[in-house]
Amino acid sequence: MSNVKYIFVTGGVTSSLGKGIIAASLANLLQARGFSVTIQKFDPYINIDPGTLNPYEHGECYVTEDGAETDLDLGHYERFLNTPTSQSNNITTGRIYNNVITKERQGAFLGKTVQVVPHITDEIKRNFYQLGETGKYDIVITEIGGCVGDIESLPFIEAVRQAVWELGHNSALVIHLTLVPYLKSAGELKTKPTQHSVRDLSQEGVLPDILVCRTEHPLPPELRKKIALFCNVQINSVIEAMDAETIYDVPLLMKREKLDERVMSKLKLTPNAKIDLEPWKAFLGKLKNPTSEVKIGLVGKYVELKDAYKSIVESFVHAGAMNECKVKISWTKAEDLADGDLDLLKGLDGILVAPGFGERGFEGKINAIRYARENKIPFFGICLGMQCAVVEFARNVLQLKEATSIEMNPNTSEPVINMMEDQKRITQMGGTMRLGAYPCHIKKGTKAFSVYGKTEISERHRHRFEFNNDYLKRYESAGMIASGINPASGLVEIMELKDHPFFIGTQYHPELKSTVLNPHPLFVKFVKAAIEYSKV
Ligand code: GLN
Repeated sequence: MSNVKYIFVTGGVTSSLGKGIIAASLANLLQARGFSVTIQKFDPYINIDPGTLNPYEHGECYVTEDGAETDLDLGHYERFLNTPTSQSNNITTGRIYNNVITKERQGAFLGKTVQVVPHITDEIKRNFYQLGETGKYDIVITEIGGCVGDIESLPFIEAVRQAVWELGHNSALVIHLTLVPYLKSAGELKTKPTQHSVRDLSQEGVLPDILVCRTEHPLPPELRKKIALFCNVQINSVIEAMDAETIYDVPLLMKREKLDERVMSKLKLTPNAKIDLEPWKAFLGKLKNPTSEVKIGLVGKYVELKDAYKSIVESFVHAGAMNECKVKISWTKAEDLADGDLDLLKGLDGILVAPGFGERGFEGKINAIRYARENKIPFFGICLGMQCAVVEFARNVLQLKEATSIEMNPNTSEPVINMMEDQKRITQMGGTMRLGAYPCHIKKGTKAFSVYGKTEISERHRHRFEFNNDYLKRYESAGMIASGINPASGLVEIMELKDHPFFIGTQYHPELKSTVLNPHPLFVKFVKAAIEYSKV
């Protein structure tokens, strides 16, 4: 076997402890030491991927370059590492079973009983090793979703046990993330849940090498000693993970706790380079010392659940830091704007209309866009947000009162947003939208060109509907132009208003490509426009 090192990250006590952020932070530190690192996530649910899940169930669906619909943790991986992920970085129980059952039907196991052990666990391991075998990585970090002790994560934990045994202790390592709760009434931090979750894990044959303990208070030395003794780890492998002011502090907190050094020493890794965290620290410096502040209205359907718009929120963090500006998000439920009472939009320096599906909130979004257009407030529409801007312009400027998207009314007489031709034949739901990266040609002399500073770009998509090119001439002569076009299909990818300081809608999702070290120019320029607006 190659000398790729495998790090498995499991979680105990409760979900939502931030395994993804810990994995991404560790990867970030190892990358800063010159290693090539990737992170993959294994999710124990039975859906083939999260593409068919409602955001209320699972937060944002993150789309990769190759068009995989994935868990939102992959967004963190990309934002922390500044390198792309792919379908191979997110595997679910559903996909594992689907692969095994497909092979069974092909006769791959002829004569044999197909079982969880070894067939499912073998398929899990094959996927554990897949990215390592590409030869592109020194280290593969595998995050196991869910909690140790859950019925559904058992096959994954068993596969981790087998992988650690096969790879040996110089090549594989298990990090277990737990919670050390603080009991206010007792005034004490409690280690029992950690002990129990390590016991659960060891009952399944997996002994963690390092414990990362989420806590609201610092872990005193005697507590670390107790955890080490009861959980079978060295005392310097008890890592404190205090609640942080921002997720982007976590790599530095992990460095202070020497998580990366513990990992390198256990895996016999010699760093290729002196650790370089300067660009990261420069970002944090700007993030924490803003010189201005803007308020952006995020108009969407799922605003009660901020995770539904994770990448947009993080893109604003990156773009805010770049502008040394604090971006305050004003969460605005689109439905609340439907009756035309737009008080909620007062005092905003910019309005973003979010991506989405279905009719709920559609009219509210249209009202918000009219307000931004008429009052020359910076506007940015993403995917459905762009489609809404097209509909609003048709109704209120082109006077096509019946205009809408085919998605909202399949019988409309003015389908300014139409279904894409190749979508019309599709009946299956999962993974069938226009997904992943496509090239886009930007016209010179447009706002989009001044944002990107180049004519050829590539951005990621997730949609079924598109701008109806039959209407393009009418739009352009009235002042809304298609400034970005897919060169092969002629699909409109960017619409913008000429007579407005900043009014851009993109059919694609720029938020999926914004990273700490490479903030997306559309967000950067949108925040800049909001700063300008706030001064007048
Ligand atoms: N519902 C729209 C479509 O399918 C927009 C999708 C989105 O915003 N991601 O085209």
